Amino acid sequence: MAVPSPEPIDVVVVGAGLSGLVAAQRLRDQGLQVRVLEARDRVGGRLVTAMTPSGATVDLGGQWGGASHHRLAALVQELGLVTFPSHYDGLGLFHWHGKACRAPIASDLRQSFLFFEPEALPLERVAIDAARRLKQEFDGLVAQIPPLAPWTMEGAERLDHQTIASWMEARSDDPIAQLPLRWLALVGGSGGFGPAESSILHLAWTQAVAPQDENPESWLIHGGMGQVPQRLAQYLGESIVQKRNPVVAISQDASAVWVHGADGRSHQAAVAIVAIPPPLRSGIRFEPDLPPTQRALLQRSPMGCMVKWLAVYARPFWRERGQNGLALGDLPCLDLVADSSPPSGSPAILAGFVAGPRAIRLGQLAPAQRRAAVLADLEACWGPEAARPLDLIEQDWTQETWSTGAFTTYLSPGAWTAFGPSWRQGHGRVLWAGTEMATLWPGYGEGAILAGEEAADQALALVG
Ligand SMILES: Cc1cc2nc3c(=O)[nH]c(=O)nc-3n(C[C@H](O)[C@H](O)[C@H](O)COP(=O)(O)OP(=O)(O)OC[C@H]3O[C@@H](n4cnc5c(N)ncnc54)[C@H](O)[C@@H]3O)c2cc1C
Repeated sequence: MAVPSPEPIDVVVVGAGLSGLVAAQRLRDQGLQVRVLEARDRVGGRLVTAMTPSGATVDLGGQWGGASHHRLAALVQELGLVTFPSHYDGLGLFHWHGKACRAPIASDLRQSFLFFEPEALPLERVAIDAARRLKQEFDGLVAQIPPLAPWTMEGAERLDHQTIASWMEARSDDPIAQLPLRWLALVGGSGGFGPAESSILHLAWTQAVAPQDENPESWLIHGGMGQVPQRLAQYLGESIVQKRNPVVAISQDASAVWVHGADGRSHQAAVAIVAIPPPLRSGIRFEPDLPPTQRALLQRSPMGCMVKWLAVYARPFWRERGQNGLALGDLPCLDLVADSSPPSGSPAILAGFVAGPRAIRLGQLAPAQRRAAVLADLEACWGPEAARPLDLIEQDWTQETWSTGAFTTYLSPGAWTAFGPSWRQGHGRVLWAGTEMATLWPGYGEGAILAGEEAADQALALVG
């Protein structure tokens, strides 16, 4: 029996992540009739806050805001949420070749080795100098990247055909020299890919549009970042945000667009905004189909691989020892650990990240082996107390059907220069949103908002 379709509206938004919700809110505030179709049984996508068995509130996805994330900061305030600065007081921990070295955080991140004062690390001068030269040359590339069109940069093809790994190896085979760029690919913002998986052009582009030097991990939200989409969805109401309804097809003609949900209903509108991670567009049947260049780009822009671990303790014992809970280097399992506790330190929370090919390898181990590997890393950093958390929560984003990975997409070598102009091109009455479409801070909450706002403005212009 045919399912009756609802009345035509102005705009259908696909995906109730931050980007889709912001787009919907902007359109509704302009008086348009809007509906959001969400695949999951919850809103928020890559932003989700959960309660652990011991009662701590943790973000399983995105958690930080950055010093220059102005739209996110404004939205958080508008929604009545309260922020606090990330905890960087005290010494961080640089792990290298089995040794944990405590070092101060650099006052100027542009001059730092990762986050640290280089001179404070027990590394050979010659290695630090090689790292500095490599980073300087890389920063030179970043400065030349046209953020909106990286494929137009002089020498773009040559840079797009070189993996990050081969570009680094041609300059230095010292693992210390290579570490800062390796780290940028794995967890530095765009995140989730290894240096052999993307081009040096792509990595330089990520830093041109989302500079790590501006410290995107500056602040946190009391009660978790996942409250942001929750509150936006509450504001929009259940009649607008429809959960458990994956969009399976989108058809259009010159007069309208029809968005088909898995529940069998067809939603007619003047415009559709698709605010989902780009690789998931491949799961939607488009009529007429996407142009071949867009299909080619989708095949060459997978999501990164990211597993987030949250260890909850009764006390922030690292703070009590003058340490800030930051750890990175060459730990066998974790690529990054950071203090994510509230200012009071109670509950005490360490957030750990495993990224790229290592995340996939870890995922093949049994759950008990994965836990043991993470606990061993925490113990190597902060001693036996760290191996006895009240809770140890694992969130593997590669296993999330409606995300397929995190933090965001990366492009395969050669993809920018072969197909770059198609990246943000709409498809008739279908506009793209989602953080990946942002021209600033793609991959971040800030980018999700900017892309949602931009798509909403384009939709407004089309609806007229
Ligand atoms: C572990 C982790 C840590 C992160 N850390 C940070 C951080 O500290 N700071 C920061 O700024 N950012 C961080 N991010 C990134 C940030 O979470 C994302 O950039 C942002 O949430 C993306 O929002 P979005 O709306 O673009 O996409 P999403 O959140 O992915 O939302 C897309 C929505 O579309 C839905 N969907 C997918 N397919 C369909 C379909 N066919 N039909 C209907 N619905 C569909 C999904 O279920 C989802 O709800 C992190 C992400 C992760 C996973």
